[in-house]
Amino acid sequence: MSWAPIKKSSEPWCVQPHLLDYEKTCAGFTWDKIRHELDGLPGGLGINIAHEVVDRHTNGPRRDQPAIRWLGQDGTVLDLTYADLQEQTNRFANVLSKLGVHKGDRVFTLTGKIPELYIAAIGAWKQVAVFCPLFSAFGPEPIYQRLRKGNAKVLVTTKRLYRKKVADLRERLPQLTHVLLTDAEKDLNDGVWSLPQCMAQASGKFVIPPTDPEDMAILHFTSGTTGMPKGAVHVHNAVLTHYWTGKVVLDFHPEDVFWCTADPGWVTGTSYGIVAPLVHGIINVIAEADFDAQRWYRVLEKEKVTIWYTAPTAIRRMMRLGIEPRKQYDLRHLRVIHSVGEPLNPEAVVWGQQALGLPIHDNWWQTETGGIMIANFPAVDIRPGSMGLALPGVEAAIVGRMNPRTVEVIKAPDVKGNLALKPGWPSMFRKYLHDDQRYKNCFRGGWYITGDMARRDADGYFWFIGRADDIIKTSGHLVGPFEVESALMEHPAVAEAGVIGKPHPLIGEMVKAFVALKPGSTPDDKLRLELIGFARKKLGPAIAPKEIAFQDNLPKNKGSTSRGGGFEITPKRG
Ligand code: AMP
Repeated sequence: MSWAPIKKSSEPWCVQPHLLDYEKTCAGFTWDKIRHELDGLPGGLGINIAHEVVDRHTNGPRRDQPAIRWLGQDGTVLDLTYADLQEQTNRFANVLSKLGVHKGDRVFTLTGKIPELYIAAIGAWKQVAVFCPLFSAFGPEPIYQRLRKGNAKVLVTTKRLYRKKVADLRERLPQLTHVLLTDAEKDLNDGVWSLPQCMAQASGKFVIPPTDPEDMAILHFTSGTTGMPKGAVHVHNAVLTHYWTGKVVLDFHPEDVFWCTADPGWVTGTSYGIVAPLVHGIINVIAEADFDAQRWYRVLEKEKVTIWYTAPTAIRRMMRLGIEPRKQYDLRHLRVIHSVGEPLNPEAVVWGQQALGLPIHDNWWQTETGGIMIANFPAVDIRPGSMGLALPGVEAAIVGRMNPRTVEVIKAPDVKGNLALKPGWPSMFRKYLHDDQRYKNCFRGGWYITGDMARRDADGYFWFIGRADDIIKTSGHLVGPFEVESALMEHPAVAEAGVIGKPHPLIGEMVKAFVALKPGSTPDDKLRLELIGFARKKLGPAIAPKEIAFQDNLPKNKGSTSRGGGFEITPKRG
């Protein structure tokens, strides 16, 4: 069925969107102009994300306005003003300096959405160290892989997570010299410090050192089809993309209250859960608790959220509950809703209009692109089911045949091909850490090949078709089959494992494993449960398979232990 476009041209705006004329904005665009809308470090000493998101606001009227409104799981509400945030992040930068953390050193976090995470990120940028967030639902194995590959020097975490997931890994992580516990009153031992104590002893004054726009700022791990996760490197200049997309896609205005539901362990939670709202000096709502429809409606109502950035899995969960729960809440402050991370079905866009009084704006990007690349802009007509138009400043295309030097750019509309982007925007990843060849493999004939299949219609709207590879997208999170297969293979009963994404109406895809057993093992429910528990303990609930099927002779395909065609369920979309 085809869905009627949602017309925007005749809308009476309560707040006029920044981008009114898409063509005109594209025609006059340069990144240099965007650079001049930001501050830069005093004295022309470069560009540092921390200065743009916090320090520059403390010289003006936003100084005593809330920067972060933190809603704790236990009902605590904590407002940190821009001045508070400046002081706290200065202290954290001084803590790092005292621990001997230098430019380029890696500062990891493994926490839920607690204020210390945000302070650590910005404080690390102040010290020109590299912020690397880990998702707290990871199990010990994915944590180990990332800390090792990322050369973690410092880890900020909680007592519980440290004890449960990290303490046993320490011997295998000699380069991890400092652990800062956010909730320890006293130091545990040499190298495992109480963060509150360190903060109390540190000065609240700090001067950000000169920062080259190309200095490494963020390391985000993302999964590939083959091998262990890749560390995508982003630089301080990425803040230009965060600022620009905050302005023309999310449409931030000074009075906005913004809520991004993503966890900073994933790229959306950093680019749009930390940087973009703060660079615009608005109120950034952070809700610690996980999804619950009633709770989320309550946050939208109580905090008078004006701009909401969420994910299709959450929207589909709300849709499933019907309109009744929504009716109990007053959502009149909501002005724009955005969604990212997975295909947003047209029904969801239209449901937004009916249930929430606003359509949902889908947008597309990836860990590697660092920021939104394709979007449905607030003032531009929406085509339900489409990811939207390319961001002004970004050239996107559909490409067909390719070899390392050339690609066939498909000009004709509605032809399926690889979604490709012309490199040059500031938040483009600069490399995969220790993986030069994998990085090189992403480029063909001067284009970055995204790994997604899509089509472009005659008016320039992009439509997602599927991944070109076997990566799994579950609840908006990328999962690499290899990482899951490797964990299963460590169980003594497993001879071979193949992992796929099984289509699922709510979470997009569900991680499913096919397992061939060693002789002598019985393929029964007891072993199935044991394997699920084994994988969950190692990998954590975000990655572990939810279903296991026993099957002899798993078919092989390239780059996998045993994944690919031949299963009764076809894993690939598209
Ligand atoms: P990640 O790097 O974890 O953010 O995942 C990026 C991948 O998520 C993309 O390459 C797409 O496969 C998928 N994705 C992100 N946004 C969308 C969207 N709006 N529609 C369809 N797929 C999306």
